[in-house]
Amino acid sequence: MKLRLILADQLNAEHSWYKEKESATLYCMMEVRSETDYALHHVQKITALFLAFRNFAGQLQKAGKSILYLRLDDHRNRQSFTENLRWIIAEYAAEKIEYQLPDEFRLDTEFSCWEREFNLPVQAYDTEHFLQERYAVKQFFQGKKTFLMESFYRNMRKQYHLLMDGKEPLGGRWNFDAENRKSYPKKMRAPPILEFHHDVSEITDMLVSCNVKTIGSLPGQVSIWPSDRTESLQLLEFFAEHLLPRFGEYQDAMHTEIWAGYHSRLSFAMNTKMLHPLEVVQHCLSKWRKRSEDISLAQIEGFTRQIIGWREYMRGIYWATMPEYRTLNYFQNTNALPHWFWSGETRMNCLRYTIRQSLEKGYAHHIQRLMVTGNFALLAGIHPDAVDEWYLGIYVDAYEWVEITNTRGMSQFADGGIVGSKPYVSTANYIKKMSNYCDECHYREKERTGEGSCPFNSLYWNFYFRNREKLSSNPRIGMMYRVWDKMQPDIQESILEQAQNYLERLETL
Ligand code: FAD
Ligand code: SF4
Repeated sequence: MKLRLILADQLNAEHSWYKEKESATLYCMMEVRSETDYALHHVQKITALFLAFRNFAGQLQKAGKSILYLRLDDHRNRQSFTENLRWIIAEYAAEKIEYQLPDEFRLDTEFSCWEREFNLPVQAYDTEHFLQERYAVKQFFQGKKTFLMESFYRNMRKQYHLLMDGKEPLGGRWNFDAENRKSYPKKMRAPPILEFHHDVSEITDMLVSCNVKTIGSLPGQVSIWPSDRTESLQLLEFFAEHLLPRFGEYQDAMHTEIWAGYHSRLSFAMNTKMLHPLEVVQHCLSKWRKRSEDISLAQIEGFTRQIIGWREYMRGIYWATMPEYRTLNYFQNTNALPHWFWSGETRMNCLRYTIRQSLEKGYAHHIQRLMVTGNFALLAGIHPDAVDEWYLGIYVDAYEWVEITNTRGMSQFADGGIVGSKPYVSTANYIKKMSNYCDECHYREKERTGEGSCPFNSLYWNFYFRNREKLSSNPRIGMMYRVWDKMQPDIQESILEQAQNYLERLETL
């Protein structure tokens, strides 16, 4: 008897494992406390994941595979992969263990001890999901000082021959960002959205009976996320048909009446491997070819870049830099995350809206994550551990390999510039330009000082002032210091005083 372990984020029905004619193989699938408890997860994340996991088990069983599925409340469940395997090996007289490489460093470390632990042959397989090997990004940038995403992305375009005209990029340019990134027009109607309706009360009842702590809400005990490959493909087609035509254009726009906008919401389906990244890109490319009159090159290029560029790159950075990466704190920030990050109870409208949406939906789009919550956390000097903890739990798509590189790297610049060439911080100006959040805010977006001035404004200058030594030589930032240096000393002083005042009462902002 051979055991094959499948994790809840390894729902790749196209994996070559399932095409083999195997005998005496037991597929082990486990819901375990070590996974529900390593972070404080959103209830929608756990329910969507367990639902898809159970459906996948059902499909394998239908296809004739032998499955051992341990629910969280199964009396045999010892609540960790290793401890469960211990009794399963004994009970089934297993002679070999096989698993697909986990995406998380902590699981990789645990699984790599099994040969010694169980005194059995153990074989790891690729998940056949990503377009690059784990260490490909590390090799690609070998000997280079910076890990520039753009050069990795161009190489991926060439390697997979996507949007290429021979050796040149289609349309003569690699990047169409300048044409994208508009804010929504004043009278914009919310784009259509595809939500599924799965009653997951059985799972939530189980979570309650097992006393699993979660955050966020799950209106009506209904999960809106795709629960299998068929639904994932439906979501992909929905995106390509209805949202891709404006994807790039409104990629950065935010609005209180529009929560997902033209974003695909495919990250959950992809991170659980129900969809393959290349099939996502190919599907969208074929839609673009058929409808090139209303889907511009800028839209499809922007989308392709996210998947074959950013997604693969972030995963590569993770494997190139872990476990040190999770200890990096370039600015040596130490502040605690304000409690309102867990409730949305703040008078700052942009943060209130984004956090409430995250708690209600388990989702916020990239710019909400980067330029609202992430921006504030960095300006407020929050310890990156606390920021990571929040991001790792709150989103349905959150897994360390893609969460930490985005949070600690891109958003908090805690890696000192491995992922980003400069910190993503802004005053209220950016948020005002890209959203309607400021329109009904308690704070005034134009003011830098005084009671009621927008906290982003004074905290922004305070951030640059406090980190001058680390940032002033950065060529992309020098201009900010020239602006600061031209300000009258009394103005500088009052901005810094205002920032100090806000920093001392972060909890009550
Ligand atoms: P779309 O906007 O429709 O983009 C399409 C796809 O491109 C996404 O599904 C995703 O797979 C990929 N993508 C886009 N940007 C990135 C990126 N920067 N890194 C990796 N993939 C990207 N993404 C996660 O999947 N899990 C996370 O835990 C996560 N945490 C983040 C934390 C912070 C602070 C920030 C700034 C970003 C984070 N991201 C994370 C990246 C990005 O915000 C999400 O992938 C995206 O918002 C998911 O929504 P979507 O599927 O509608 O994306
Ligand atoms: Fe956010 Fe400041 Fe605008 Fe209020 S005024 S919504 S705090 S940016």
